[in-house]
Amino acid sequence: MKNMSELFGSMVFNDEIMKDKLPKDIYAALKKTMREGTHLELDVANVVANAMKDWALTKGATHFTHWFQPMTGITAEKHDGFIATAESGKVIMEFSGKALVRGEPDASSFPSGGLRATFEARGYTVWDITSYAFIKDTTLYIPTAFCSYGGEALDKKTPLLRSMEAIDKQARRVLALFGNTEVKRVTANVGPEQEYFLIDKDFYLKRPDLIYTGRTLFGARPPKGQELEDHYFGSLKPRVAAFMKELDEELWKLGVCSKTKHNEVAPAQHELAPIYATTNIATDHNQITMEMMKTVAGRHGLVCLLHEKPFAGINGSGKHNNWSISTDTGLNLLEPGKTPHDNAQFLLFLAAVIKAVDKYQDLLRVSAASAGNDHRLGANEAPPAIVSMFLGEELTEILEAIEKGAEYHNCERVKMEIGVTALPHFRKDTTDRNRTSPFAFTGNKFEFRMLGSAFSVAGPNIVLNTAVAEILSEFAGILEKTADFTADLTAIVKDTVSNHKRIIFNGNNYAPEWVTEAEGRGLSNLKTTIDALPEFITKKSEELFTKHGVFSCSELHSRYEILMESYCKTVRIEALTMVDMTKREIIPSVIAQQNELAELLERKQALSGDSFDITLEQELLTNISKRSTCLWKKLTALENILIESDYDCVLAEGNYYKNKVIPAMTELRLTADELETLTAKKHWNLPTYAELLYSV
Ligand code: ADP
Ligand code: MG
Repeated sequence: MKNMSELFGSMVFNDEIMKDKLPKDIYAALKKTMREGTHLELDVANVVANAMKDWALTKGATHFTHWFQPMTGITAEKHDGFIATAESGKVIMEFSGKALVRGEPDASSFPSGGLRATFEARGYTVWDITSYAFIKDTTLYIPTAFCSYGGEALDKKTPLLRSMEAIDKQARRVLALFGNTEVKRVTANVGPEQEYFLIDKDFYLKRPDLIYTGRTLFGARPPKGQELEDHYFGSLKPRVAAFMKELDEELWKLGVCSKTKHNEVAPAQHELAPIYATTNIATDHNQITMEMMKTVAGRHGLVCLLHEKPFAGINGSGKHNNWSISTDTGLNLLEPGKTPHDNAQFLLFLAAVIKAVDKYQDLLRVSAASAGNDHRLGANEAPPAIVSMFLGEELTEILEAIEKGAEYHNCERVKMEIGVTALPHFRKDTTDRNRTSPFAFTGNKFEFRMLGSAFSVAGPNIVLNTAVAEILSEFAGILEKTADFTADLTAIVKDTVSNHKRIIFNGNNYAPEWVTEAEGRGLSNLKTTIDALPEFITKKSEELFTKHGVFSCSELHSRYEILMESYCKTVRIEALTMVDMTKREIIPSVIAQQNELAELLERKQALSGDSFDITLEQELLTNISKRSTCLWKKLTALENILIESDYDCVLAEGNYYKNKVIPAMTELRLTADELETLTAKKHWNLPTYAELLYSV
């Protein structure tokens, strides 16, 4: 390995390279556009494009691509060569400012949820100047936003950037009230912890369910699961260590600050965490990370599974969204400060998050909804489908004291008067004990833990940024008109605690009693994706997103349609895969086993009439035979259920898949898994859970 300073960002057209390669005035113009979002003149773009191309050529690039994030949740790219023919007939390498700034991919095959009729096939991509271009393989990747000709966002990046604008604007209004006028920019940041599984490629290739759906649809539980808890933080197996090392190097080259790596709870499960970045850049980097995990795994004879629940009965994978807001002057707005003045500001931002999470709990839930994640949320390994917040005892007591106007008695016996007293110092260990909360304060940031491992982090951060922006704008509206700042500030914090403390829960979120208690508190419990998605298109949601210019109504509805459709398609593919595997893998295995038993029975009887004991053969055969009939019936039932195709809306279709198809799949699996335990290994062609989980 090269040394770190040579390696890190070596494939990125970053600030340092820009400064080095661009004329001073061009560099200054570009920086201004980056900072202020002003228009970039074409002559500036031309110079930048040329410098980018020259740099890319020295790194071996031959192509460029506008890299974008359509609503599929993954990224898209179409590579164009720099190659062009000059008049002389010789080839030259060319890259214009126009090609850098704007592209027109034929976008008719991307989901648009009705936003773009297919006759308007062309959408266009626009360079996102705030996220650096990079080279992967031999292509220069230019991060872009993706819109329709009507200007509607067809991607995940555009609304994310808009939500960052919203929170920037509202947070600065609040900061100005505290006299913080030197702040030019407030950014929302995220550090996404990424969980994943690594399995052996040879076994993977024998599992159609993994190939088509990313998760196992069949598989009896192995004798050893995760009960010994011997995998978490365990020492890395050599193959895994080699994979992680190479992954880190590849990510570092691309400027992704991969920092932490370790084994997770389930066998074959691991985690990677980067250093946090702005929600926009972290989203780009997380997409790169997920993709790179798959690529590098392939080089090691491994397959990386990013599905939320690859194996039943064993922990699934999530993504922890560590979120904070900070200023360009280096202040973390969720960090309790040292002076009473700073703490008043902290408490106001904290109150805004509390109120936002309570008021928009349903939207946060929607942002973590997918067919894959439905297998995790609410099972006792991941936070439940109920959104609540963990603040830790100390902070909760302080808020309660403020609510009551009472004294807060910690060891220093201070009276909590906002803006007058200093807050006690929070150590990370006093705020980081609860690992069951879906939304936990961890000292200077919030950890939103409901996301699924395969998610783009764009969605959850769009909701978070916008919801908090809304409450900040509400608070700013009051305080901008106030005659008595401290009194009104105190009133806001007090009222927020009184009206929204139901969202604060410091107990065990996995306990069954919590479900009852949450219901008593009036918190929503949207158990599945289909229950959650309609919350996305309520009046309340429309008002929030349109007010802050994050989604127009039609953009919002298009996303609802896409999410619903994607749920239905996912379940349908899973069901069809089950049907196929049952017919072509499981039934033949079961027949072979029965055949062997029947032959043995016949031979025993031919040899000795009734004098050999044939209890085992007979009982086993009876058992398998009974279950085979049952399997056949359940298979037929599932096939019949899948014939239905007449729904009057996506919600009806979604409900059909949830209420009819999934239960039929569960039934079929139950019997198939029983048959697996009754069938000899040599007849069972599908790799078992034990092989999948313990072979690396
Ligand atoms: P743990 O597993 O204990 O939660 P990790 O070290 O695995 O912690 O991950 C913590 C994540 O939080 C990292 O991605 C880190 O960069 C991120 N993080 C730390 N500080 C902040 C912050 N102020 N804002 C956003 N993310 C942060
Ligand atoms: Mg971690």
